[in-house]
Amino acid sequence: MSKVLLISTGGTITMVRDKASGALVPADMETFKAYMPELFLAGEIQVDIEAFTPQIDSSDIGPQIWEQVARMVVSHYDEYDGFVVLHGTDTMSYSASALSFMLENLSKPVVFTGSQLPVGVLRSDAKENLLTAIEIAAAKDEDGNAIVPEVTIFFEDRLFRANRTTKRNAEHFSAFNSYNYPALAKAGVHITYQPHLVHYSDLSQPLRLHTKFDTNVAVLKLFPGIQPAVVRAVLRTRGLKGVVLETFGAGNAPSDKWLYRELKAAVEKGIIIVNKTQCNTGSVEMGLYAVSLNLMKAGVISGYDITTEALLTKMMLLLGENPDDTAIVRRLLGEDLCGEITIDK
Ligand code: ASP
Repeated sequence: MSKVLLISTGGTITMVRDKASGALVPADMETFKAYMPELFLAGEIQVDIEAFTPQIDSSDIGPQIWEQVARMVVSHYDEYDGFVVLHGTDTMSYSASALSFMLENLSKPVVFTGSQLPVGVLRSDAKENLLTAIEIAAAKDEDGNAIVPEVTIFFEDRLFRANRTTKRNAEHFSAFNSYNYPALAKAGVHITYQPHLVHYSDLSQPLRLHTKFDTNVAVLKLFPGIQPAVVRAVLRTRGLKGVVLETFGAGNAPSDKWLYRELKAAVEKGIIIVNKTQCNTGSVEMGLYAVSLNLMKAGVISGYDITTEALLTKMMLLLGENPDDTAIVRRLLGEDLCGEITIDK
């Protein structure tokens, strides 16, 4: 029998409607389990549950909870074949991306899922998402190895590499997409895996947990007409160590001299600035257009085709783990650590 540990942090999937206010509020695990008898009828898969008390709306989840979830995985690593993390959809891509960097040399599945409608609602997507996520977390090949030993998100009918995902829809059941990397599996009548797309860790290396995040980072989104005072307010923030610079198209920015000077001064102070395109699909290609040359000259580095969620969490973790070594952080931001970027050779 396979064993899966279900770690419930909360989110819509475990919520119920509060009679007084009409708003969705977190339910306790007993209420949730009463709606999900299938969990214990799954036959070949034993499901155990660890739940946060109280359950948390994902807008309130950050590095502290990421660490607790990662520690739960590590402390039960040898007892289970795989892990499912129940999580609100709003920040799921951030948390799941963070876990993908925290759990180095992962060799078991950690599948995040949630739902757009609470489990108690008749048309809820909760049951399908959760039951399929459990099956994926338990899935092994003929040699007994996990089929997808990565941190992933399963939602509606697709399994995505977590650090490639973005929440794209607040309405439809297909809430997530992975714009720059194909799905690792599709679930219909059968679950069809794409093993050639899976990222496999070196099995000779033990699992290593990284937990130190430095949150002195910012996302600066450029727009036509952006004023120097706005850019300065961000780049001159006290204690700032890293910036995700959201640029146009293939990584372009206005060619104003003041912008170049501000970016260069920030880089010279030791702030790491990474160029991330505002487009969902495609990659930064600095130097393709003249309007990105200034960024290169200022010392801004390429984020390639990374998502903002993955870049932000990778940056916070690298800064936290290497507090005195900007060179290492800059180098690793340009490397593919666990499938989060595509670097053309
Ligand atoms: N606000 C909820 C959350 O992220 C939304 C959801 O789960 O879909 O926790």
